[in-house]
Amino acid sequence: MAAISLATGAGAEQKKSAPAGFIAIQEGQLPVILSAPHGGQGEIPGVSARQGDGLQKGASGFRTERDVNTEQLALAVASALETKLGKKPYYVVAKFHRKFIDPNRPADIAVEDPKARQVYDAYHQTLARFCGEVQKAFGHGLVLDIHGQGTARDTVFRGTQNGKTDRALVQQFGEKVHAGPESFCGLLAARGLTVQPTDTSRETAGFTGGYITQTCGAREGIGAIQLEFGSDLRKKENLKTTAAKVADAIAAFAKLYLSDKPSQKR
Ligand SMILES: [Zn+2]
Repeated sequence: MAAISLATGAGAEQKKSAPAGFIAIQEGQLPVILSAPHGGQGEIPGVSARQGDGLQKGASGFRTERDVNTEQLALAVASALETKLGKKPYYVVAKFHRKFIDPNRPADIAVEDPKARQVYDAYHQTLARFCGEVQKAFGHGLVLDIHGQGTARDTVFRGTQNGKTDRALVQQFGEKVHAGPESFCGLLAARGLTVQPTDTSRETAGFTGGYITQTCGAREGIGAIQLEFGSDLRKKENLKTTAAKVADAIAAFAKLYLSDKPSQKR
């Protein structure tokens, strides 16, 4: 495993963040924020792997397995979206391995070392800042938290806590923003991906949306959806195709709901 170099890939935006280098960050121009907390492979110098002593293991508990290729998938979605719309989405993407920090858990499960806590806090503070900027500029925004699952290799599982974490958008645009052909997952399914569910059925246990969607989705004007991609969709040779479909669905969703002048677009 490679230690994360503080210099590697640190663009102007990343240098502003502290502690730089452990998180890839992009300031955006669209009301779309991508997050990928579990794809990194880097070590954090001086920090040991978490042990999880006394913590419950499993779905919403202590886990250390990374979500392979989700760092690359998130960056590919951002790049495809910029190509398509000529504007950048925001993103916050972990470069550290989940065994050191789990940003998709409350702090008492997520970190064990104070040095790691700084990085955990930076991840969440950046997401919070981006949500605030987007809400201020556009009145509303979409957070997509990108993950990988090993249960169904060709499937994307939707997680909104069964309609809780995207409620801010439902309040503005109605139930169609959560379920059905004009929901984000409906638009994704229309681009050839198997998505479960796209309607008002109960979301699959274990994939109903974690700490990031819960915290972002509680913010004013922000709808948050956790997307759990099956392993086939994250294979290196499929990443570009998967990213293109996700970016296309985001563009369609943005056109329907996320204009800065919604009255002209609806
Ligand atoms: Zn994950």
